[in-house]
Amino acid sequence: MPKPSDPARPSKAPTYLTVIGLTLTAVGIVIAAVMFIGALPGGLTASEAALPVTVGLIWILFGGCTILVGSALRQRARKQAERHPSPELHPSSTVGEMGTGCATCETALVRNAGRPPHDVDIAKTSAALEERVDDGRMRYLRGDVPLADMLALAQSDLKYTIVSFLHCEECGRTRFWGLCIRGAPSYKVVDAEAPSTWPWDAVPDRLRWAP
Ligand SMILES: [Zn+2]
Repeated sequence: MPKPSDPARPSKAPTYLTVIGLTLTAVGIVIAAVMFIGALPGGLTASEAALPVTVGLIWILFGGCTILVGSALRQRARKQAERHPSPELHPSSTVGEMGTGCATCETALVRNAGRPPHDVDIAKTSAALEERVDDGRMRYLRGDVPLADMLALAQSDLKYTIVSFLHCEECGRTRFWGLCIRGAPSYKVVDAEAPSTWPWDAVPDRLRWAP
């Protein structure tokens, strides 16, 4: 089980397997070549060469199998690495992560002492975003529910992901703020088209989850 701070670093074992496989194959080829030269006129007879040639072929067979297993393992490791980062909160149009220093949208993210990516204080970040929308520094574009309702819906466990898109009036970028029942929250810069391409789905009746 990879630690959250160490997301799915592919194991080196498959690479070693491939190297071992190549070595085995090379040894097999060398044995076969030596036998072939030995079987030239005046060398070994066919029956004398049969055993070493068989041994060479077995080496090559082992090598081939090891290479196949290695590449299969490598492919599996790659697929796992792709699956690992919270799959539900990935707008296809992510532009970039934090780090451009906008005093409005950048500072809305409030961290806690958790391990990344679980190091976001959801309540404080949500409050910071509401504050920026209220005073006009950010504009609420679209969401499953109003910002102030996101936490209550998330806590109800009735909807898997709850997301909002906001426009930052200072830097002009679009921000994605998403909560997920089982995953980490996500706050990031996305394409301006992201709100229209997000796979919106039905929100449970508010009476079932509103405070
Ligand atoms: Zn901004």
